[in-house]
Amino acid sequence: MTSAPSCPSCRQPMEVHQFASNLGGALELDICFACQGLWFDRHENLKLTPASVVELFRLLHEHRIDHHQPLSDSMACPRCVKPLEKGFDVVRSGRYMIYRCGRQHGRFSTFSSFMVEKGFVRHMTRPEIDDLAKRVGAIYCTSCGAPVDIRKDHACPYCRAAFSLIDPEAVVRAMEGYAKASSPRAMPSSPVDIGDALVALERDRTRAERERQKRAFTGTSDADDSSFTGDLLSAGVALVWAVINTRSHH
Ligand SMILES: [Zn+2]
Ligand SMILES: [Zn+2]
Ligand SMILES: [Zn+2]
Repeated sequence: MTSAPSCPSCRQPMEVHQFASNLGGALELDICFACQGLWFDRHENLKLTPASVVELFRLLHEHRIDHHQPLSDSMACPRCVKPLEKGFDVVRSGRYMIYRCGRQHGRFSTFSSFMVEKGFVRHMTRPEIDDLAKRVGAIYCTSCGAPVDIRKDHACPYCRAAFSLIDPEAVVRAMEGYAKASSPRAMPSSPVDIGDALVALERDRTRAERERQKRAFTGTSDADDSSFTGDLLSAGVALVWAVINTRSHH
């Protein structure tokens, strides 16, 4: 195996994780949790087995309160160090950004883009947006990552994407599709509450941040709990993880 490639955005070594490919054999994905991005080599088949999808969600959930940093303006290919070309791809569930190496070494995709590409997101409904607007100050756009004030805007003012979030039912359906499940099970009927998940996530993150500050300084500045930027992606991952766990224990 080659050594860990550098993240196209922050240039730090990425974590190399092995997943099972549904063509048999292993698929190696390089992940940067700080930049929330995945690198796929050109030859890597994107068809993850259901077990691999579960494993990927487990990893994302494990890292849900990691420190996140904005993407760099200039991305470099981890193989040839040439700048990556930014582009958009369109699928049924939306439009997503992708960064490709012009020399065909592969592509860099944010976790959000990966979710859109796989059809794991859906557009938010008007009542959902209204409900979230009461509970969070802003959200990070699932398509481009920009913080957006959902009380004012009706779509992302930067990339014009409609507000969207991870749909746990779509993830589970896709996994069953991959597995060609012979005995379809009923979906859990209770609707999952993204607002609750966001608030819980923010609580965990604030607590972790306080711990960090406690270790670093003697005095801590009080974080403003009443208004925060909601991380829809991580909250969505938490919901998916909860659904996967519920189902696997039945
Ligand atoms: Zn990075
Ligand atoms: Zn390259
Ligand atoms: Zn956007």
